[in-house]
Amino acid sequence: KKIVIAIDGFSSGGKSTFARMLAARLGYIFIDTGAMYRAVTLYGIEHGAIRNGVPDRERLVGMLGEIAISFRFNPRRQASDIYVNGECVEEKIRGIEVSAAVSSVSSIPEVRRKLVALQQRMGKDKGVVMDGRDIGTVVFPDAELKLFMTADPKVRAVRRYEELRARGDDVSLEEIERNIRARDRADQEREVSPLRMAPDAVVLNNSDMTLAQQMEWIEPILEE
Ligand code: C5P
Repeated sequence: KKIVIAIDGFSSGGKSTFARMLAARLGYIFIDTGAMYRAVTLYGIEHGAIRNGVPDRERLVGMLGEIAISFRFNPRRQASDIYVNGECVEEKIRGIEVSAAVSSVSSIPEVRRKLVALQQRMGKDKGVVMDGRDIGTVVFPDAELKLFMTADPKVRAVRRYEELRARGDDVSLEEIERNIRARDRADQEREVSPLRMAPDAVVLNNSDMTLAQQMEWIEPILEE
């Protein structure tokens, strides 16, 4: 029987990597909801509704109707790329400019309302692994399996650093660690859907675990 697997946790905690593996293992689709908040942020930056990392809320909310988000499987990456109005923005949304503004965008209730509704539609047939901050608490409170992933902030910063360096971004480890800590704080302190662990979530702290070890760890849980 197909189920919904909700994965929540802090920034750069390895959620997407793990969720993608898990989806492949189960033949499920994987949905990275962070990419959706990032896509709205990118659109806002490119259309003048976000300046110097600060959104003009009214303007951005007024644009929401123009932003059509979709996912398309990319066989080269063995994962889905995100598209906005038909354009692949998978690369662009990972940059530091979007990362710096996305927390303020994700604290806007109208933005959350739009994206949560879309996420619920995408997961309605089950057979989905969805990762984010509010999946087990707001998007799918009835998910059959909920995971909450954590890792030491230093470990998370190093992982993100290596990822961004690999694609040629000129960033410093300090800058990334600052951004991760700021997003942790903003995600937990915002008024709408703050990052919380669902009471029925299983905790996975992967600070000292390889991806293979995480897959081994989840196996007995999947069999239940
Ligand atoms: O997962 P990722 O780091 O790409 O998410 C980017 C940002 O999007 C987070 O820092 C958070 O502010 C926001 N987000 C959210 N709710 C989700 C997923 C992401 O608020 N379900």
